[in-house]
Amino acid sequence: MTLDCESPSVEQRLHLLGVEPSGLRAWFEQLDQPRYRVEQVLDWIYVKGAAAFEQMTNLSKTLRAALTERADIFRAELVTESVATDGTRKLLLKWPDGQTVETVWIPDAERHTACLSSQVGCAVGCQFCASGLDGLQRNLTTGEIVEQAVRVSRLVTQSQPATPEARPARLSHIVLMGMGEPLANYDAVLAAIRILNAPWGLNIGARKITLSTVGLPKQIRQLADEGLQLNLALSLHAPEQELRAKLIPWAKMPLTEVLDACRYYFEHTGRELTLEYVLLSGVNMEPQHASQLARIARSLRANVNLLRYNPVPGLPLARPSAESSYTFQALLRDQGVNAHIRTSRGQEIAAACGQLRRRQAESVPPDSTRP
Ligand code: SF4
Repeated sequence: MTLDCESPSVEQRLHLLGVEPSGLRAWFEQLDQPRYRVEQVLDWIYVKGAAAFEQMTNLSKTLRAALTERADIFRAELVTESVATDGTRKLLLKWPDGQTVETVWIPDAERHTACLSSQVGCAVGCQFCASGLDGLQRNLTTGEIVEQAVRVSRLVTQSQPATPEARPARLSHIVLMGMGEPLANYDAVLAAIRILNAPWGLNIGARKITLSTVGLPKQIRQLADEGLQLNLALSLHAPEQELRAKLIPWAKMPLTEVLDACRYYFEHTGRELTLEYVLLSGVNMEPQHASQLARIARSLRANVNLLRYNPVPGLPLARPSAESSYTFQALLRDQGVNAHIRTSRGQEIAAACGQLRRRQAESVPPDSTRP
């Protein structure tokens, strides 16, 4: 083994969770290690859930020491971990540069979903979202995105089954719906999805991975051509250009272009689309909005997820009543649309994107969440 003992900086250290086997083989070759070491290390990380090289007992002590010196499995420090009464668990993770992101584990019977962030902060600036309030700080790396999922996966496998007869729990679904616009960090996000999906990685089927976007037409088309079977969710929130531009200031591209790109995605992947629509009292819930939304949903053969807004401190928008939300849903259903009101999860721990991070930074009292 040809190793020197200088301590590499964080930038020089390898974040193993961000690298595919081909890259790892080249790296292990530099350590004069045989190729099969890569399979051993991947098995320890993704199958056995090892959190430290020390646990990898089929590697020599010298190699474990060398890996500890030069590479990381996990890079983030866990700042807080909050559990809501419905079981939703939110992690606030801090990276070595001091930036923080949120990751959420949403358990639902045998379904365990990790909601991942793709950026630190967000440039999109949706008028109803805490994550956009401070703008974009930086993109997350592939390793940082995968690390969030692997951390949730470990929590899930370590959890108690609901009943003694139940199968051991495993992370089953991924949603890229946390902080950030995933398609604005395309390369890192795609590389992360490939690792999450790979049989040697977390082995989560592409059909169980959902990417949520405000709609970047070029990147949606590119995603359609990747040969993956991902679910695509379009954060629509307004069914016409002018209102949408107010609610999502960054989304300046014509809505028709966004919808054309979504149509392209559906035609090239065969995957059903979902339209996400946050219900804002007095803003986007008029009957004409329902008719416009229904037309769009039918033209894309898309399902609609309605999310009742939960106020964010400092934002002048109001949560609609349950009655008006059901009325809006009924208008959509009457026009032939499959529309559901999504349940807010983990409200008391601010499980919606960006709130825990802001609360941590500003000591905002725990009294509200957004969708
Ligand atoms: S809702 Fe999503 S896209 Fe909009 S500001 Fe928040 S994180 Fe960004």
